[in-house]
Amino acid sequence: MERILDGYREFKKTADREAYGRLAKGQAPHTLVVSCSDSRIIPEAIFSAKPGELFVLRNVGNVCRLDDPSVACAVEYAVNHLKVGSLVVLAHSDCGAVKAVEHKEHLDSPGLVDWLCEECFDGCDLDSAIKASGIRQFERISTHPAVKAAVEAGHLEVGLLFFDLGTLGLARYNGKDWDRVC
Ligand SMILES: [Zn+2]
Repeated sequence: MERILDGYREFKKTADREAYGRLAKGQAPHTLVVSCSDSRIIPEAIFSAKPGELFVLRNVGNVCRLDDPSVACAVEYAVNHLKVGSLVVLAHSDCGAVKAVEHKEHLDSPGLVDWLCEECFDGCDLDSAIKASGIRQFERISTHPAVKAAVEAGHLEVGLLFFDLGTLGLARYNGKDWDRVC
């Protein structure tokens, strides 16, 4: 716990008080990011975003189960109320959630079994299985009524990205294949 509190003290020394003063009055993020809880994946760092720019939903495996209230609620709040212009599903290399479903029978944690019960390992290697999982999440979230309505109205763009930790490469799914962003 002390490590966390030390981190906060350090943050407070350098925090942009003017910016936080503005943010104290409300938020207007431009993008909803659905990311993995993985400690190495920090959307604000990867996308050079400041506080107030990203509305982030994080869970194990960036899973977009619409029957999960926390997923449905974050999507509805971001799209209907905050009116974000973009929704990004962020998949990443070496994802433990996708690794876990390769041998589901070995999962001994009831929480993980329940959370990942609808997931599968679909691919010839880990990266391709992670990308296939990302596509499933992207397709699921695209069917949410709030997302569909906003996309049809031209207010929302939905995308799927794959971040490679080893190379810092970013790829974007184009509906068929993956384009390298940079
Ligand atoms: Zn992950």
